[in-house]
Amino acid sequence: YVDIDRFKVISEGFGHNMVDEVLVAFAERLERCLREGDTLAFLGGDTFVVLLQDGSEARQAQHVANQIHMQLIAPFHIEDHEVFTKASIGISTVAPMVRNPEEVLRRAQTAMKHARRLGSGHTGVYGEGMDSKTRHLLEMESKLRSALDRQELTIYFQPQLCLGENRITGMETLLRWKHGGKMISPGEFIPVAEETDLILPIGEWVLREAAAKTMRWIDMGLGPLRVAVNLSERQFRAQNLFRIVEQVLIDTRLPPECLELELTESIFVDDPEATRQTLMAFHKLGCKVALDDFGTGYSSMSYLKSFPLDTLKIDRAFVMDLTSDPRDAALCSSMISLAHQLNMDVIAEGVESQEQLIILRAFQCDEIQGYFFSKPLAADKFETFIRE
Ligand code: C2E
Ligand code: CA
Ligand code: CA
Ligand code: CA
Repeated sequence: YVDIDRFKVISEGFGHNMVDEVLVAFAERLERCLREGDTLAFLGGDTFVVLLQDGSEARQAQHVANQIHMQLIAPFHIEDHEVFTKASIGISTVAPMVRNPEEVLRRAQTAMKHARRLGSGHTGVYGEGMDSKTRHLLEMESKLRSALDRQELTIYFQPQLCLGENRITGMETLLRWKHGGKMISPGEFIPVAEETDLILPIGEWVLREAAAKTMRWIDMGLGPLRVAVNLSERQFRAQNLFRIVEQVLIDTRLPPECLELELTESIFVDDPEATRQTLMAFHKLGCKVALDDFGTGYSSMSYLKSFPLDTLKIDRAFVMDLTSDPRDAALCSSMISLAHQLNMDVIAEGVESQEQLIILRAFQCDEIQGYFFSKPLAADKFETFIRE
């Protein structure tokens, strides 16, 4: 049996040079824990892989892991600083069932992530103490990590119908993941992407892809079109979001007013001042901002008057029973007039029937989106749809 460990140094919050020096010093201590015949590899970031020599047992891997943790009790002295660090270690063994080295590594990584969740300074052994839900999440994470490279991600577009003009004025971009012959729904993988920050590269890809496709349709004379892109709070908080959006608009030539960023009320809960500044920057750039899932969050409504918002999206929850529940009808009607008085447009989501459409039209709702008009469509289908 070969035992493989993988661990991560907790080194956030240092300058880059400092991190390099910690890594070198760390590797030196690590080597002290190994025997001749063991292999040490640096994987980049702050992650190493240790391959124990043939014939090692899980018990020995556990022993090495303990020694590594012990080595980290004493701080590193780097320049004038004392640097304390801890590691999370994952162990997986080569069982007769799993001979594939990639699979062994993946399991060791899964065990390491599990250890990290327990807090740094822990060791995890693959399969031990992991319930099936944790295992499922951790495995999804490692598959999602390669989804971008393997081109398994794709975007769909759901048309938005303007009720006044009776034509398609825009569409919402919805992410899809084709993996292993299955379609995994964003409801399943977006939370994993958010938790692991994979949402940052994925979100940037969505933005670029959506802008490029839209500009191509505009160039073909199929416009004007406004494309909406969903942004997670994690993306919204990223320091470089504004720069990314600006660069995507330059690279694709998409006019700023053709891009709408969909955000949820969650961005108003923490640090409203930072939120206001970011929104003002997008407003100045000329992009549109839509408030998604309106009415389902837990934040105060006062933000509606103090933030530059262009569009309010009424959540499907209010539209669903619009025709049967007078209370939902009252809520929809009030939300629409509130938005109009604040100079915002309204899109109703999840419109599935003609009856709902008729009521929303009577309430002066500006646009509708939902299965009644069209499901989200692959790019080629969407193109055919807007040509007709
Ligand atoms: P959302 O932004 O509220 O998107 C609307 C969801 O409602 C979509 O689900 C859409 O397919 C579905 N939908 C549209 N019309 C109808 C209808 O008439 N009836 C019903 N029952 N459903 C309808 P989807 O595509 O599964 O996306 C789920 C959520 O995943 C989205 O909710 C959004 O929060 C998130 N998401 C999707 N794509 C992205 C993305 O690129 N980035 C981020 N950060 N989140 C995304
Ligand atoms: Ca780290
Ligand atoms: Ca949305
Ligand atoms: Ca929504």
